[in-house]
Formats: sequence, structure tokens, C-alpha cells
Amino acid sequence: MWRSLFRLRTFVRPYWHWLTAGITAFFVARILEAQVPIFLAMGIDRLAALEEAPSLDALIAADLRTPIIGIVVAVLARYGVVTFARFMVRRTALHVAFDLRQRLFGILQSQGARFFNDYSIGDMMTRAVADISLIQRLFALGTVLVVILIFATIVSFGYMFYLAPSLTLLLIPPLPFVYFYARWSTHKTGIASQAVQEGLSTLSDQVQENLSGIRTIQAMVQEDNEIRRFAGTNDTYAQAFYRQERISSLTAAVMPTLAGISQITILGYGGWMVLEGQMTTGTFVAFFFYVRMALQPVRVAGFIVNLFQRAAIASDRLFEVMHLEPEIPDTPSGQTPATIRGAIELNNLHFRYPKASTNALDGIDLTVKEGEAITIMGPVGCGKSTLLRLLVRLLEPEPNAVLIDGFAARDYPLKQLRLDIALVPQDPFLFGQSLGANITYDQPDRPPSAIRSAADAADLGRTLERFPEGLDTPVGERGVTLSGGQKQRATLARGLIRNAPVLLLDDCFSSVDTETEDRILSALRRLRRGKTTILVSHRVSTARTSDRIVMLDQGRIVELGSHDELLRRGGAYAELERLQREGDSSPQVKDPAELPT
Ligand code: ADP
Ligand code: MG
Repeated sequence: MWRSLFRLRTFVRPYWHWLTAGITAFFVARILEAQVPIFLAMGIDRLAALEEAPSLDALIAADLRTPIIGIVVAVLARYGVVTFARFMVRRTALHVAFDLRQRLFGILQSQGARFFNDYSIGDMMTRAVADISLIQRLFALGTVLVVILIFATIVSFGYMFYLAPSLTLLLIPPLPFVYFYARWSTHKTGIASQAVQEGLSTLSDQVQENLSGIRTIQAMVQEDNEIRRFAGTNDTYAQAFYRQERISSLTAAVMPTLAGISQITILGYGGWMVLEGQMTTGTFVAFFFYVRMALQPVRVAGFIVNLFQRAAIASDRLFEVMHLEPEIPDTPSGQTPATIRGAIELNNLHFRYPKASTNALDGIDLTVKEGEAITIMGPVGCGKSTLLRLLVRLLEPEPNAVLIDGFAARDYPLKQLRLDIALVPQDPFLFGQSLGANITYDQPDRPPSAIRSAADAADLGRTLERFPEGLDTPVGERGVTLSGGQKQRATLARGLIRNAPVLLLDDCFSSVDTETEDRILSALRRLRRGKTTILVSHRVSTARTSDRIVMLDQGRIVELGSHDELLRRGGAYAELERLQREGDSSPQVKDPAELPT
């Protein structure tokens, strides 16, 4: 447990002075608290020493003034000191949590395919929210309690020993039991807490998946099944929590029992000492206060143990992620040119996804000249998207398998590579912002005219006319939900506006009808003249306009050439052309959102 918590030290270091100030203040507070019984004892003993009842005024004036003022001052000072101490540790806790969240988020930004295969989004959200708040609680509350526990014990036992050593020694024997009990419950709580946190991860995973797929679930009338499945997960979580609560309840109940034993000891032996004249009544009363002071934090020992255990597990779960290196290292050679011109060379490019049994790409050789337009075709799963991802190092190719302008892709700064080679991914994703902000996502300060013309090139013009707010229409998570085709064109506009030396379009016309596609293609030809463009498509009508066509199958190039060349060859492409030409007479399926309304 301590090793797990010790890992947090680098995050605490910047705030160490606050934490030290807080802890010191807590110590001072204990000393102040310990003064109260001293003054109390003084008052009681002075009262007991009186021979006859004096007048109230005389009493306050003479004998009780010091104890009363002493108690008032001690209590008020303690109040101030404790307020300061709490503020200091909470401030530390808040900053540590902030830094942890920021760091975790940063780490997530540099992860790739392998990471997102291994960890689910729900799990990451639990770590970023629940686990970090457990650590925050540890600092805000745990340190306070431990500090109180230690200082209260030291200070109260110190004072008791000073007042009556023999009575204090009698109070010590039960203490080892506290220790063993604490160890036992630490162990038990640890097991239970781990289960709780894992249960929470599974739970949020399931909610996350369910909500993302809610339309599919409703369309297939699987709500009841989903609810049942959720009940299972929910129950596992509740059971784990139940076990944890049972242990901590048990711990909470044991400590007051110990307090009772101590009180009986004081009453018996202490009372005898008073009768024998070995101890004053005031000291006798003060003892009860000190025992209370010593045992009060022990009462919450179970809670503390729980807090530490859970924070330790949370820390392990966080550092499991924090220790990850960026999946795609950014170590530019410094030798590469400042701008990419757009010649691409693939040399025997292989790629296999983690845990896959076959290669997604299996020896691709291809040279794309600067300014060339290439269409990649092939059946689903043949490796088209994989190829494009390798070009921008969203996946990592072998060192010299991908050359850009003659330099290995990994020699370029990652940022430059991905800026100069603009990839429009296959699944269109829009952020919860305005349509315009989505299009100019990479550079929010572009003039509206630039956004407008990119939107027009992607044939979004008519769509925009239908939105009263035009480019300011909110889309994505909290706005107007666009149709598949509209989303595709919005992401296409996002790619076009960048005017990058190389543009990669991954199946960006699959949800638009052929007429729209034709309009976009002619805009594309105009905008991309002299610049390298690689697009993935299923349509011969798209492919025929490009300089060369790559036919992929099972990760290999099976045909390569211009439209005319491939038709003459009479291979897979020619067959595809024939099928699509004959299929053309059947009515085109249009994106419903594009039909006149
Ligand atoms: P395409 O874009 O041509 O449809 P992909 O490049 O997406 O094909 O996929 C090529 C192969 O790699 C397929 O067999 C697919 O199942 C596999 N694949 C794609 N993405 C992953 C992934 N993240 N993890 C494991 N295998 C993948
Ligand atoms: Mg694909």
C-alpha cells in the first residue's frame, strides 16, 4: 500500500510547503487542545481546596480567572489554527488532483491503437474522475486524520505520562490489539476496495456503451435485455460495496469498545489513587479528557485505513496509465525539409494489428509522385484505412517502409507530418460546436469566407441554406444531428480547408449520392491541382477521374494502373466497372436528408 501511495510524491512535491504548514498547524492545534484539561484540572483542584463557599464574584476574581481565560484562549486559538491547517491540506489536495487529471488527459492524447484496444473509455473515465477524487480525498481528509491520530496520541499520552505515569502504563496493554486489528482490516479492506473500483469501471463502461449504442438497442427492442444485463453488473458492484461497508462498520464498532476499557481502568485505578491521595481530583478528570483525545481518532481508524487503501488502489490504477510511453514516439531527425511536397514511397510495407493473427497489410510497394491523384479500391477489410493511417503514423510503420519526399515518416516531427498530410478519417466525427467551428477546428481564426468556400467545395452549400443559423448552427453531441452524408461532407470540408500538400480521403463519399459526389469531385480536382491526393472509394465513377488506381485485396496490391489500363487488363477492376455500370440503371439510393423537403 505504501509503495503505491509513495508514487504520488512527484505530484505532491510542488505543494510540499503547504502540506508541511498544514501538518505543523495540526500539531500546534493538538498542543492547544491538550491545554484545556490542564486548566480544567487547575480549576477543579482550586475549587476542591476551598474551605468554605466564597461569593461568586470573589471566586471568579481570584481562583477561577486563570483557568477560564486559559480555556477560552486555548479553544479560540485552536479554532484559528485548525482552520488554517485544513485550508492548507485541502489546497494541496485540490492542486494534486488537478495536476493528476491534467497529466492523465495529456497521456491519453498520445495513445494509439494498442492502448484503446486494451482500455475502454468507461474505464478511463472512472480513472480520471473517481480514482483521482479518491486521491484528492486522501490528501484533504486522510492526511488530516493521520496527523490527528499521530499527534493526538503522542500529545495526550505525553501529558498523561507527565501527570500520572503508573496510570498511563496501565492504559498501554490494549494498544497492540489496535495495531493488529488495524492490520487485519487493512488487508480486508484492500481486497474489498479493489473489487469496488473495478466494479465501478465495469459499470461506467456498460453505461457508456449502452448510451453510444442506444439507437441500435432501441431499434432491435433490446432495452429489457440491456436492463437485465445492467442489473447483473449493478449487483456485482453493490455486492463489492456491501463487503467493503461491512468491514468498515465492524472496524468502527471495535474502537469505542477499547475506549470503554480505558475508561474503566481510569475509573478504578485512578479513583483509588485519588482516594489514596496520590492524585488530585482535577488530574483524575483531566485523564478522561486525554483518553478521549487519544481515542477519538482511533475510532475513525477503520475509516482512515479504508481511505488509504482506496487511494492506494486508485494510485496504482492511475500510474498504470501514467507510466505509458507515447505509443508513437515523436523523435524527429532534424534533417527533413520544412515543407512536405507530397511524393510518397511505400517499400514492402507490412502491418499487423496487436493481437491479430494475420497481416492487415502484407508487402505493399507503391510510389506516388508529387501531385498525383490515386484512388485505392478493394473489398471491406482489405487494408485501405490501415494504409492511410500508416502514412500519418496513426499506426506505426516499420522504419523505412514509408518514405515521404525521400525521408522516413518517423524522421519528420509528428506534428508536421500530420499537418502536411491531411487525413479525413472514414467515420465522420463532429465536435459539440458550431458547424463552422467544426470545419475550421484546427485553426479557429480563419475568415468566414474561407470556411464558406471549403463548405461549398464539399457541397454543403444547400445544407447550410436549410439551417437558419448557417455556419453557426450547433452540431454534434448537443446540437442538430446531421445525416451521415452531411457529416461526411462536413469532415471533408474540414480536410479541404487545410489545403495540405497531401490529402487522404478515407471513403468520404460512401453516404452521398453520385450527383453530389460528381460536384465534389470536380471541386476537388480544381482545388487539388498539382497536389497529392489519395482517396479510398468503392465507386468506379470516383476512381476513373484519378491518375492511377490501386486495387487491394487481403493486404496486397492486386492491380495498379489508370482507369483505361485496368479496363484493358480485364481483371477485378474491369469486373467492378461492369457490375457498377449495369447496376446504374437501378434507382440511386439517395441520402434522405438530401431529398427536397
Ligand atoms: P478497409 O479500410 O479496407 O475496410 P481496414 O484497413 O480497416 O480495411 O482493415 C484491414 C484489416 O485489419 C481488417 O481485417 C480488419 O479486421 C483489421 N483491423 C482494422 N482495424 C483494426 C484494429 N483496430 N484492431 C485489429 N484489427 C483491425
Ligand atoms: Mg476502411
